[in-house]
Amino acid sequence: MIYLDYHSSTKCDPRVVEKMLPYFTEEYGNSSAVHTLGNNAKKALDGARSDIANIINASPDNVIFTHGATEANNIVLRSFENGRVITTNSEHSSVRDTVNWLFLNRNLKVDYLKINENGTLNIEELEKLLNENNVDLVSIIGANNEIGTIHDLKIIGQLCRKYNALFHTDCTQAVGKIDIDVDEMCIDALSFSAHKIYGPKGIGALYIRDCSKFDCLITGGRQEVLTSGTVNIPAAVGFAYACDLMVSEKTEAVRIECLRNKLLSDLRKYISGITVNGTMDNRLYNNLNISIKDIPAELLVLGMEDVCISTGSACLSRNPEPSHVIIALDVEQPECAIRFGLGRWNTEQEIGFAVMKIAGIVNSIRNN
Ligand code: PMP
Repeated sequence: MIYLDYHSSTKCDPRVVEKMLPYFTEEYGNSSAVHTLGNNAKKALDGARSDIANIINASPDNVIFTHGATEANNIVLRSFENGRVITTNSEHSSVRDTVNWLFLNRNLKVDYLKINENGTLNIEELEKLLNENNVDLVSIIGANNEIGTIHDLKIIGQLCRKYNALFHTDCTQAVGKIDIDVDEMCIDALSFSAHKIYGPKGIGALYIRDCSKFDCLITGGRQEVLTSGTVNIPAAVGFAYACDLMVSEKTEAVRIECLRNKLLSDLRKYISGITVNGTMDNRLYNNLNISIKDIPAELLVLGMEDVCISTGSACLSRNPEPSHVIIALDVEQPECAIRFGLGRWNTEQEIGFAVMKIAGIVNSIRNN
């Protein structure tokens, strides 16, 4: 099996799994309990929080554990159900659908910034909206989960600060792949998730600069201040080690980027009519999103049993409509967009195999 869908999820690194194992069967205490096993769990949790905070240059006191980025995004957005928010037309569904729901069912006022055909934002437009209204929150994705384009978080953060709006960014695809500094970038809230960086599924983190500006989403023991429930210690430990590995093995980016570039150039060698969706200039090193003229992505993805690629966000894959991100780019055939996400275990041979497989399917569709 050749896996080229690292944006939807990643294999948990075996070294991460190994770190997690003792916390299932030996150190299984509840971190809120005050006996020895509880204290050990609390110590592991504190250590994990600190490693996770390190990857975004935050203080551990400002990082809370969630059950994933979806929950983190919900905590942030639902705190402003009666407020005014600016977001973009190309967010992940966990932001997009939450904003829509709050607009329809609560009192949220919302303005949408539109990405241009490159997948980038017009910063003057953001400033105009901030200047015209009393905006509570700006929520903009750090790196897009479909087209991999990276927004200028520092410029956006500085503008939000200037106009007294809080800045939230969904950095689920960006953390560990681009340098993030919550202070330098004036970020007030940042969401991310372990399973995109070779950690376990079902755990995420939310950086919050000032908790008093946000509400608790899930009430209960408030173990994590803005959310409740016994914290998953094995997952927290695994998440932290996954972050450590992203930092210590940063140079893997160069290898993966080379593979991504080879993928594009080899595809172009064997298949005509390829266009890249979104700019290649400011893009995650492991992302490629292309359209192949007159080849519906659905046909291609379904024909590739032993190569895993996708038509877009996994969260929306069972929806037959073309993705809102690709539609926002205003491309000619949005139904032809396919997404590749490369990662830690891809090899040059795999890329070669995938290219030949895709070329074979494209040619058989075209010759029919
Ligand atoms: N935001 C982005 C940009 C994502 O790519 C994802 C995962 N597809 C999420 C949020 C949701 O993350 P989780 O699965 O941890 O809830």
